[in-house]
Amino acid sequence: MLDEFTSEPRIAYFTMEIALRNEIPTYSGGLGILAGDTLRSSADLELPLIGVSLVSRAGYFRQEIAPDGSQIEHPIFWEPRDWCAPSEAKIAVEIDGNEVWVRGWIYILQSQAGGREPVLLLDTDLNENRPEDREITHYLYGGDEAYRLKQEIILGIGGVRLLYALGFHIRQFHMNEGHSALLALELLRRNAYPVLGVRPGESPYDIPQVRELCNFTTHTPVEAASDRFSYDLVRKFLGDFVELRILKSLAGESNLNMTQLALNLSEYVNGVARSHAEVAGKMYPGYHVHAVTNGIHPFTWVCPNFSVLYDTHLPGWAHEPDYLVRADRLPDDSVWEAHTHAKRVLLDRVNALCGANLDPDKPILGFARRMTAYKRPDLLFSDLERLKAIASRHPFQIMLAGKAHPRDNGGKELIKLLHRHMAELAGAIPIVFLPNYDMEIAQYLVAGVDVWLNTPLRPLEASGTSGMKAALNGVPNLSVLDGWWIEGWIEDVTGWAVCGTSDCSENGDAQSLYDKLENKVLPLYYDNRPGWIAVMKGAIGKNASYFNSHRMMRRYATEAYIR
Ligand SMILES: *Cc1c(COP(=O)(O)O)cnc(C)c1O
Repeated sequence: MLDEFTSEPRIAYFTMEIALRNEIPTYSGGLGILAGDTLRSSADLELPLIGVSLVSRAGYFRQEIAPDGSQIEHPIFWEPRDWCAPSEAKIAVEIDGNEVWVRGWIYILQSQAGGREPVLLLDTDLNENRPEDREITHYLYGGDEAYRLKQEIILGIGGVRLLYALGFHIRQFHMNEGHSALLALELLRRNAYPVLGVRPGESPYDIPQVRELCNFTTHTPVEAASDRFSYDLVRKFLGDFVELRILKSLAGESNLNMTQLALNLSEYVNGVARSHAEVAGKMYPGYHVHAVTNGIHPFTWVCPNFSVLYDTHLPGWAHEPDYLVRADRLPDDSVWEAHTHAKRVLLDRVNALCGANLDPDKPILGFARRMTAYKRPDLLFSDLERLKAIASRHPFQIMLAGKAHPRDNGGKELIKLLHRHMAELAGAIPIVFLPNYDMEIAQYLVAGVDVWLNTPLRPLEASGTSGMKAALNGVPNLSVLDGWWIEGWIEDVTGWAVCGTSDCSENGDAQSLYDKLENKVLPLYYDNRPGWIAVMKGAIGKNASYFNSHRMMRRYATEAYIR
C-alpha cells in the first residue's frame, strides 16, 4: 500500500504532536495544529512529505471543568485501526538494555484537491514488548523525564529506522521543534566512517553530511523551555549509541539539550515569525536563524459560508490563497451575511452546550488557546470595574476556551481565576468558558466571534496562529504586538494593536486594551457598520492572503528543502 509513496524521494517531517483530524487526539495545541496544516498544505501542493509522530493512544486529554473552575483531565483512548492501516515492517530500538519494538500506523491525509500525504504514527503497544514499554507511546507530553526521553528515542531513532525499513527514500529531514532531534544521532550512526579511517581525536561521524540532511524549526523564545536530559539518563537508556565526547560537543557539556543538538546538526534553522527569528538569533549566537512566518491551512479553517463566498467571488482561492488579496471585490452585504451565519452557528452550539443565552446582536470577544501564564488570559480582567463601565455603554460578550497542561499549575490556576471573574461579572457581562478546546471548537469559535483577542507577554508568543484563522473568516484581531501580529497588523485596517511597538508594562497593556475597546473597537461595531465590514475585508485581504500554510510550505520547499 505504500508503493505510491515510496516511489519518489520525500521530506520526512518529524513532530511530537500532530492535529490530523478532530477525532484523532494526537495534539495539544498550536504546535500540533501547525504540523497538521503543514501536511495539509503539502498534500494540496503535492509536495512529497511524510509526517512522523507518535500514536498517543491515550491522546492528550479531554478537559472537564468542575463548578469551581478546576480542570479535570480524562484520557481519550482512540483506536488507530479506525483511521489507519498498520505498517508491515516493525523495527526495534534498544532502551535501557531492552529491545523495544515499534510499529507504525499509516494515516493517509487526503487533500480536497486530490493530493495525498502519508503520516506514520509510531506505536510501541505490541505484544512483544514489556508492559511498561507498551505505554511509551500512550500519553502525549505525559510522565516524567525518563518517560519523555523514551518517547523521544522512539520518535527520533525509531522513526528513522521505520522509514527506512518501509522502503522510504528520504531526501531531507525536518524537525518540528527539538523533540525529534535524536533522529540526527541515528543519522550520525548511519554516516559513520569506517573505524580504521578515523584518526585519534577526530570525529568518527560525517557531521557535514548529516547537517546537509537536516532542517530545524524552533518554536519558543524561552531557552529554559527546551528539553534537556541528564547524561546519566541518556547513558543508561542509550549506552554508547553515539560517542559521549562527540555527543557533548553537539548537545552541551552539562546535559543533553535537544535544541542545541538540533541547531548543531541542521544546515537550515528557522524561527516561526520575523521577530521570533530575531530573538532566537540572539539566544543562539553563531547560528543563522532564518524567518519563515507560520500560516494556517485555508480549507481547514474557513467556515462553510465564507468558503462559498470565496468560491463565488475569488474562485481558486483555496489552492492559491494569495488570491484573497482581492477581498475588496467581496460585496459588503455578503460578507456580513456570511459572518452573521457563522455567529448563529456558534451561538446555537454554545447555547445548547452551556445553557448560555448569548445575544446575536451584541459583539463577542473571543480568546482561546493553551492556558498558560505567558498568554495572559486574565489581562482582559485586570480591572473589572473598568470592564463593566465599558460594557454598560457598549455591551459585549466574551467566549473563552483552552486547556492547561496537566502539570502546569499556573495554567490551571488561570482557568480557575477566569471562572471567578465570570462569577463576579455575572449580570453585567455574559461570559462563557467552553470546555475541552479542540480543533472542532476552534473552527466554529474563530469564525463566529466578532473580535479575536490575544494578549501574550512580549516576546514570548513566537508566532500564534489562531488569529490567522480568525482573519480568514473576516474576524479582526485585537492583539499585543508580538509574533505574527507584528507583521499582520495595520491599525484600523486589519484590526488593532494593544499597546504600541515599544515595551509596555502589564498595566500599560491592560489600559491600552480597555482604551481600544472603548474608543475604537466597540463604537465602530455599533455605529459604523460599513467601517466595520471594511476592517473585516482588510483582515481577509491583507492577513489571510499571506498568513496561510501554502505560502509557508512554498518557502520551506524553496529555501530549506531545496538548497
Ligand atoms: C489554532 C489552535 C491553537 C493555537 O492557538 P494560538 O492562539 O496560536 O496559541 C491551539 N489550540 C487549538 C485547538 C487550535 O485550533
